[in-house]
Amino acid sequence: MHEMSIAQELIRQIEEHVSAERRPSVRNIALRIGTLSSILPESLTFCFDALVNQTPLQSAKLSIELVPYTLHCTACNHSFEPEGWAHVCPKCGSSQLISQTGQELELAYIELEESPSEVV
Ligand SMILES: [Zn+2]
Repeated sequence: MHEMSIAQELIRQIEEHVSAERRPSVRNIALRIGTLSSILPESLTFCFDALVNQTPLQSAKLSIELVPYTLHCTACNHSFEPEGWAHVCPKCGSSQLISQTGQELELAYIELEESPSEVV
């Protein structure tokens, strides 16, 4: 299962950022996931909860922010969310487009009890 290996990697990253004695106070893990990344937030949450159960991270919850797919036009510098797969700039009609967001899979921040701190 795709999401299972992502959840494992996520836990590895959390363990890298949070020392063993502070892990029980991790409350919230914020993630940014692009809508093109083909990750299902519900199943990632399910896998994460299953993996942290009975570990020092068991009270940690995932908060997932979905990032929409956007394109950037290199001809006129316009950024937009494409509709369907007809990819031309709605402003100038150019097809010189690069994808800007939508592929993200990143750890935004880890929130600990007492002292919320941004560690990444
Ligand atoms: Zn344009």
